[in-house]
Amino acid sequence: MIATQININEQWESIQGRLLEEYGEATYSSWLKPLSVVDHKKGCLCLKAPNAFTRDWVTNNYAERIKVILQNVNDNTQPLEVTITATEEGSSVVAAPTLLDMVDVGSSLDSRFTFENFVVGKPNELAHAAARKVAESDSVTFNPLFLYGGVGLGKTHLMHAIAWHIKKCHPKRKVIYMSAEKFMYQFVRALRFKDTVSFKDHFRSVDVLMIDDVQFISGKESTQEEFFHTFNALVDQNRQIIISADKSPSDLEGMEERLKSRLGWGLVADIHPTTYELRLGILQSKAEQADVTVPQKVLEFLAYKISSNIRELEGALTRVVAHSTLVGRQITLETTQDVLRDLLRANDRRITVDEIQKRVAEYYSIRISDMHSPRRVRTVARPRQVAMYLAKHLTSRSLPEIGRKFGGRDHTTILHAVKKIEDLMDKEKNMREDVELLRRMLET
Ligand code: ADP
Ligand code: MG
Repeated sequence: MIATQININEQWESIQGRLLEEYGEATYSSWLKPLSVVDHKKGCLCLKAPNAFTRDWVTNNYAERIKVILQNVNDNTQPLEVTITATEEGSSVVAAPTLLDMVDVGSSLDSRFTFENFVVGKPNELAHAAARKVAESDSVTFNPLFLYGGVGLGKTHLMHAIAWHIKKCHPKRKVIYMSAEKFMYQFVRALRFKDTVSFKDHFRSVDVLMIDDVQFISGKESTQEEFFHTFNALVDQNRQIIISADKSPSDLEGMEERLKSRLGWGLVADIHPTTYELRLGILQSKAEQADVTVPQKVLEFLAYKISSNIRELEGALTRVVAHSTLVGRQITLETTQDVLRDLLRANDRRITVDEIQKRVAEYYSIRISDMHSPRRVRTVARPRQVAMYLAKHLTSRSLPEIGRKFGGRDHTTILHAVKKIEDLMDKEKNMREDVELLRRMLET
């Protein structure tokens, strides 16, 4: 057995000497020198790497050799293990090579992804409420909680927030958060090292298991099978499971039917695409957090223009702030437009005249064909004018082009409609509200 800590440090030094001889200066200083001893237990030498990449590289390329040297140095007939963790993962002690990358709560969690930093709005209120409920409950409420939504809408943020909350309020509970890819990778490794038993034990002893982006498991039959069993075992033991995906359980492709149906058993909460209000709220909160003053006009402009997802929105704000800090100039609408030119172009959502006609017709409960028809009754003519007004303001079409889209009307008719609606918006609250609402519906 490996003796005392002092001993092990000495041993490690002599092992390092050997490694330097064997691999040469360059390899040694890049990969092996930065390793340090964190622990040794039950015949296991635990090393720490400065980052996850080094850890993986060393594990794949040098761990076997280190093990052999260690065995020689100890003149030991019993098998010894070498494990390597990364600094970000703290000094978590892991027992077997298959569990090298096992991530306990707190290790790979983003410190910014908390409930406090999560801005709630219509599109995410259900998902947020469900996440809170799961985080705050002492007993299992919905199992599983299935969160789904498009890229960059806050799924990972909510999962980390749950983990942070549990970590704070119930530090004894064992929480595992990992991506589905990592789960798969772990499982494949366990198979290779013929160590599926400890793989299973590890997962089946958790209180809360979170698997992010589960769509990546689809198509991988053996992993699905294992996931399914783990899942069932945990549910049977009344442990909480939280899953995220980019689609609803029933829409997941390449996923076994029984797994799909199992995933939909608990609460399925979707996150909808963002609205202007939510985007503005998020920008305000991010600017506050970063402690920078950004003119309201600029925030509104960004919220209006960058509607794809929140990650991109954040990225835009960061760029604007970084630019202003670097050049030492205040943030203005002009500099913002300048700095983000490429991004803004990509986000230019092209609202079409057809789309406007369709929305407006729905809104006023008239037929789409009435947008092109010559009928002049007020109930039809007014909505048509609203559509013309919106077409003028929300698209880059010229008046004659818009006229053609409305049953071949003259450009002066369009101009007249635009003026008429502007006029009515000034005078009538209802009209103003209708148009605002329609504009927002079309823009988000
Ligand atoms: P997903 O996992 O759905 O792809 P993320 O959770 O990674 O998306 O979110 C992308 C980025 O947007 C993260 O930086 C996250 O903090 C931020 N974000 C998403 N939703 C919100 C929200 N409601 N409030 C504040 N920040 C958010
Ligand atoms: Mg994510």
